[in-house]
Amino acid sequence: MQITKYCKKAVENYPNRPATVDLQTNRQINWQHFIKRVSKLAGALLSLGLKRDDRVAALTCNSAVHLEYYFATIWAGGIFVPLNTRLTSHEISRLLYDCRANILVADDHTYSKLDESSKPEHTIFAGKSCTPDGWIDHESFLKSGKPATDKNRGGEDVATILYTGGTTGQPKGVMLTHNNIISNSHSALSILDDGKPWRYLHAAPMYHIADCQWNLGVTMIAGTHLFPEKFEPDQVLSVIDRFRITHTALVPTMIKILCDVPNIDSYDLSSLRKINFGGSPISPQLIKRARETFPKCEFIQGYGMTETSPNISMLQDRYNTPGNPKIESAGRPVPGMSVKVVDENGEELSRGKIGEIITKGPHVMAGYWNNPKETERTIRNGWLHTGDLGYMDEDGFIYIVDRLKDMIITGGENVYSTEVETAIKKLDKINSCTVIGIPDDTWGEAVFAIVVPNSGQEITEEEVISHCRKYIAGYKCPKSVEIRREPMPTSGPGKILKRKLRKPFWPDDERQVS
Ligand code: ATP
Ligand code: MG
Repeated sequence: MQITKYCKKAVENYPNRPATVDLQTNRQINWQHFIKRVSKLAGALLSLGLKRDDRVAALTCNSAVHLEYYFATIWAGGIFVPLNTRLTSHEISRLLYDCRANILVADDHTYSKLDESSKPEHTIFAGKSCTPDGWIDHESFLKSGKPATDKNRGGEDVATILYTGGTTGQPKGVMLTHNNIISNSHSALSILDDGKPWRYLHAAPMYHIADCQWNLGVTMIAGTHLFPEKFEPDQVLSVIDRFRITHTALVPTMIKILCDVPNIDSYDLSSLRKINFGGSPISPQLIKRARETFPKCEFIQGYGMTETSPNISMLQDRYNTPGNPKIESAGRPVPGMSVKVVDENGEELSRGKIGEIITKGPHVMAGYWNNPKETERTIRNGWLHTGDLGYMDEDGFIYIVDRLKDMIITGGENVYSTEVETAIKKLDKINSCTVIGIPDDTWGEAVFAIVVPNSGQEITEEEVISHCRKYIAGYKCPKSVEIRREPMPTSGPGKILKRKLRKPFWPDDERQVS
């Protein structure tokens, strides 16, 4: 199985259907033209000396250019490495050193983040402003490329290295093969495809697996890819309206941001047929709001991780409705993937018991790039250990309760931080909150909440604690609460970086490595 085969199929079946649309100029590139650009770009990359398995890094905002480099790198036999555009120069240098890319493409928003010392041998500028000195201009580079024949990489060959979110520690490079990415796309489409043409909006960052998976998924069904440069809520809503977007993938934070747009009713969002969401826990309250905001749309939750390309399980729309008990779950394993819940000795637990979620199947990565030790620790006897705690009900639905690293042990009792967060979020005044364990002489760890109220609203520590007492057992309620005005540190896809918040309390703890 080869990723590029699906580009060719799109051309065979729908040569004149738009592959990409530029939102600024309205310029459409059809599949026939798209594949020509890909093969020329592959030729240009080969002319720089790209060899089998060489890494091409992309530090680009969501764009058609990003998608073209994805396919062109794979076409030319290389490995595509999208980098988180929100990282600092220092963090980017670290990742570039780790993946040893000798070709990198950047744009107006990112090129200045490159340190002279960590710059790869060839740097391509795909921005709109004047090409900086020492950079190759993307448009002339593309024009100079001689159409290359597809190197026909496939199967167990590595197609991409994607870095994990860096929520619990340093981001790890995940090697995904052609087989991984193709089987993930097939299983995602088996749940999301409705047989009608798609206009897919790459709203979440394309360097993150939640969206990156749709580079191929949308191509497989010859859909049309559209890209807002940034996640600016009014811009996203207006693009959905103007371009009659049918599908998108969002993380829960983005759903909340869109639901909070005051004049949302002024947009016609009726074209949107499906939203695939996931990447972090979502509260039933937010799903309810989202359904009210997008009444014509189906909501499909995905649970997964970079290491599983990403889908492990999905919760279909019919269960994602307020009042349905399954709404609390992350659904059932997607086709091809097996899931078990195990104790610390790796013994499978019975239904309803909380343990670590492990998974096996064709979406499981080849391993961590340059890190065989971590690979061995994570994949044991063919089972990938997710680091997530959860349980399975009698019907095989998976419930995520926390990350192993975020569970708090207080006075010998396990407290799942997400359960406490869910209780706190029931307070209307809350904009965001997070719960961590902090050192405590009596309890070992004490439950500590950080709460950011909505702007213009006041809240007190006592209010938060007494509110929690209504929903959860006393030992789970925060012992203390910090009320913050400024937003908490988050990763690219909007996950709160608990390791950063824990750091001042646990200066020597290994979980805090950043
Ligand atoms: P790192 O591995 O570097 O700490 P990360 O785990 O955040 O970062 P990702 O691979 O982007 O990097 O995220 C996968 C994790 O996100 C899962 O292990 C799980 O904890 C969480 N997650 C994903 N989907 C869901 C979901 N539907 N519900 C709850 N949590 C989810
Ligand atoms: Mg992880």
